[in-house]
Amino acid sequence: MAWRFALLIDPVASDIRRDDFSDTFTVIDPDGAALRLGDLSAQRGDGIFESLGVIDGHVQEVEPHLARLAHSAGLCELPTPNFDQWRAAIARVAADAPAGESVVKLILSRGVEHGPAPTAWITLADAPDSARARAEGVRVTTLDRGYALDVPARAPWLLLGAKTLSYAVNMAAIREAKRRGADDAVFVTSDGFVLEAPTASVVLRFGDRFVTPTPTAGILHGTTQRSLFAHLGQRGFETAYETVPVSDLGRADAAWLLSSVRLAAPIAAVDGEAKAVDRTLTDELNAYLLSPRD
Ligand code: PLP
Repeated sequence: MAWRFALLIDPVASDIRRDDFSDTFTVIDPDGAALRLGDLSAQRGDGIFESLGVIDGHVQEVEPHLARLAHSAGLCELPTPNFDQWRAAIARVAADAPAGESVVKLILSRGVEHGPAPTAWITLADAPDSARARAEGVRVTTLDRGYALDVPARAPWLLLGAKTLSYAVNMAAIREAKRRGADDAVFVTSDGFVLEAPTASVVLRFGDRFVTPTPTAGILHGTTQRSLFAHLGQRGFETAYETVPVSDLGRADAAWLLSSVRLAAPIAAVDGEAKAVDRTLTDELNAYLLSPRD
């Protein structure tokens, strides 16, 4: 990933109101060393993050991402982020964004063990090229996530609805999918329900009805999926959150993986079974997702 710009942020309490937060930001060399060795993000993956798409300098869906950052902070018992401070940091890094697609990443770590405060930083990087995934689609393999649908409610300490920095399992799932000849994975519960992809939400289409797994099932509530559902609703389509059996992946007329940077990637095969890609509709969905969204 080509990093362009980074700021270290000195987090301030969520109730502090100021017009100017610039003295809480330190510009850092995006390719240089910036963290203490004992930072718990590096030692234990103990922190949370958000990745936001940037298109021609416009950062997409800032408020939904900040809301999810705060939700993750609550689940992880990290201090509530100061939204004004993060908005200012996002505006500062976006000012350096080139034309085309980039990624802004917000990171809030628990900080150094026994240290006084969390560590936070924000980066701007070039977005990977997603043209092929958007046009031709991705072949997915279903992978058991190893727990039943009711586990998130029974075991909240698993932090299943938080966007934590601990993505080692998610990356291992993508490697396993590639070993099986696919491009990406779709996690399913041990009792046979669709969850999400390691870095994306899953949306299925049945006629004029679009369905996604209920976010209480221990998955992230995708900002891209929510934005797309609002758009589809305005276009007269029905949208629904449901418990989705794995067999629906094959049964659906079409399906997509949705995320802030790759946007809508149609699912072209499930466990080796080809699936029709609706190129026209996918292009329309991506045109909407590439338009400035707040
Ligand atoms: N689910 C997981 C596990 C993710 O990592 C992501 C995005 O990174 C998503 C879903 C989609 O979320 P969003 O649309 O907000 O990018």
